[in-house]
Amino acid sequence: LGVENSPTKGQSKQNNEPKIEAEAEQSFEDIQKVRRSLPAYKVRHHLLKNIRDNQVTVIVGETGSGKTTQLAQFLYEDGFTANDKIIGCTQPRRVAAVSVAERVAKEMDSPIGQKVGYSIRFEDQTTDSTKIKFMTDGILLREAMLDPLLEKYSCIIMDEAHERSLNTDVLLGIFKTLLARRRDLKLVVTSATMNADKFSRFFGNAPQYFIPGKTFPVEVIYSNHPVQDYVEATVQKALDIHLSTPVTDGDILVFMTGQEDIEATCSTIIERLTEIYTKKYGANYQTYLADVQVLPIYSSLPADVQGRIFQKQKDTVRKIVVATNIAETSLTVDGIKYVIDCGYSKLKVYNPKIGLDSLRITPISLANANQRSGRAGRTGPGIAYRLYTQDSAIEDMYPQAIPEIQRTNLANTLLQLKSLNIDNLSKFPFIDPPPSGNLMASLYDLWTLGALDNFGNLTRLGKLMGAFPLQPFLSRVLISASKHGCSEEMLTIVSMLSVPSVFYRPKEREEESDQARNRFLIPESDHLTLLNVYGQWKANKFSAHWCNSHFIQFRSLQRAREIRQQLLYVIKRQNLPMESSGADWAPIRKCLCTGYTHQAAKLSGLGKYVHLKTGMDLKVHPTSALFGLGDLPSYVVYHELLMTTNEYINVVTAVDPLWLMEYSGIFYHIKRRKEQSYRFGETTSLRKADNGDIDKIDIQIDKLKAVA
Ligand code: ADP
Ligand code: MG
Repeated sequence: LGVENSPTKGQSKQNNEPKIEAEAEQSFEDIQKVRRSLPAYKVRHHLLKNIRDNQVTVIVGETGSGKTTQLAQFLYEDGFTANDKIIGCTQPRRVAAVSVAERVAKEMDSPIGQKVGYSIRFEDQTTDSTKIKFMTDGILLREAMLDPLLEKYSCIIMDEAHERSLNTDVLLGIFKTLLARRRDLKLVVTSATMNADKFSRFFGNAPQYFIPGKTFPVEVIYSNHPVQDYVEATVQKALDIHLSTPVTDGDILVFMTGQEDIEATCSTIIERLTEIYTKKYGANYQTYLADVQVLPIYSSLPADVQGRIFQKQKDTVRKIVVATNIAETSLTVDGIKYVIDCGYSKLKVYNPKIGLDSLRITPISLANANQRSGRAGRTGPGIAYRLYTQDSAIEDMYPQAIPEIQRTNLANTLLQLKSLNIDNLSKFPFIDPPPSGNLMASLYDLWTLGALDNFGNLTRLGKLMGAFPLQPFLSRVLISASKHGCSEEMLTIVSMLSVPSVFYRPKEREEESDQARNRFLIPESDHLTLLNVYGQWKANKFSAHWCNSHFIQFRSLQRAREIRQQLLYVIKRQNLPMESSGADWAPIRKCLCTGYTHQAAKLSGLGKYVHLKTGMDLKVHPTSALFGLGDLPSYVVYHELLMTTNEYINVVTAVDPLWLMEYSGIFYHIKRRKEQSYRFGETTSLRKADNGDIDKIDIQIDKLKAVA
């Protein structure tokens, strides 16, 4: 099929995949010609003069004008890498950092990792000869922890600053003081038009430089009625456009929420087209199917697959690119004439009142909607279809997106700032301060994990946690495993949790793949199931063939293996013991309780759980090993909370409630109901200690011997 993320590609039996030949690779000369045609190129002397004359410059330009790919090269050509200094360029997204580095390496005719390199979490593609380094903003923040003056850089470009990612905002605050201490360091902040004034003001009215550019008008068409199912509506719209316009007319860019919806959209488009063409042309359908190439793009997609969205196709092939908001500004796909905007994006949202992180499908902002529409007008006039009504756009959408720092759990950031000796957070120059409720709740989280003492100072454990490039609760779990003799296993689990889903479930072979998956399941634990998959893969010599024949995503496992290697390096550097608990998995479950203190639930009815801290009703996600079990465990911890029409927990493990008490005694304790001594099966109640009245939950403790 035309969907490009099949891991069994090339070995699968799906032979109806349209053969699409990409046009020959662009030659170096062609690439230089394209470079010279970019708006940024025409004003480069001016631009460089501005950067040389000011310590901070804000650069504003239309998407596609060449900010990301050209600026660093201009600086390089202008001698900014003299005296062994290098040029850094940060991106809020991993995908963009990799893709852009590869593009620039090609433009500079140098293999990746040489003149041009990139660094993202768990993957460093730089060498001593790297002069231009692309990286995520998170990586630069980590570097600032090791080298607070960022000595090796002559200039740092903070790209896509308007996205206002959490790490970008923190870096901006850090730069505010850093720039005074390093007068020779240049900072370039690039932004779409939104937010540019704000950045300029933040850095004492730093000059703004506008890259002149040309855009074409885009007709915006709203939906007449509210849409019931945005995936279905998107598929319909894409088919309408494709079937009613000539292929040469232009490509289609679809904005979807996240990986799952994107995959569903892509495969449904192909399915429907196959149906339609088969009806119309019989056995000849493949010829017509070859006219279209459906390409997904989201952050966890492997780099080589991502690259395909940029490959130029023959004029007789129409691209339908189905993307997350990454394609709003970070990546520019040329030749788009139609945009379909589903109106939503997937956001990580933190609720400080209940102290929970969750993933939510949320309406986008008007600024995002306009940015999405604009993608249709780069090479000529275009049309943007918005799959929501004009009324709902006016009523439901914020004018601007809320910056991440104001809607996210700050525990990780605070841990990093504490490691940078930035103790007085109320004095930290945030460009937009986080709500104090968020700050307090996040500090509280760190305190309950043992990272902060009663005075808010970093503890030894907190320092150790800061050494790991992981969310604090995961580093906590890993550190406690090293004390309980199961770090070998936990290291694997934590690595597996850091990669996209390892199980592969192709649409046309669902039953077969489910059976394959069932053979890996460890009763009552997704975490141990992940451990089991990795263990068997290892026993089979890390083989790709083994993965394919067991419906396992080889790439995910490979990535987990790399991550494991990197985390192992941190463990060794911190002198933590590496031990295996062998066949005994109890210590592993127990250690999970040290980090998942807020992520625990109790069985409350048939197939239902209730959140121990908040009393929220929860269901087990259908992809969990626990889903559909007749006899569900009484207590579980979970890794992820998804909020859609229901609240789902995913990646779940059964635990003993006494462990929860042992490690989160601050929240939970056992209250005896009657004047009885502990006996097997006695009714007791586990309640939230700091707010017992509301969240009192009765439980049946059946392992009371452990208490005695
Ligand atoms: P900006 O950062 O101003 O949005 P970019 O520097 O990302 O602009 O892009 C400039 C041009 O380079 C665009 O026309 C884009 O299509 C092209 N381009 C960027 N990355 C690639 C790539 N990987 N392959 C081919 N063309 C690319
Ligand atoms: Mg850019």
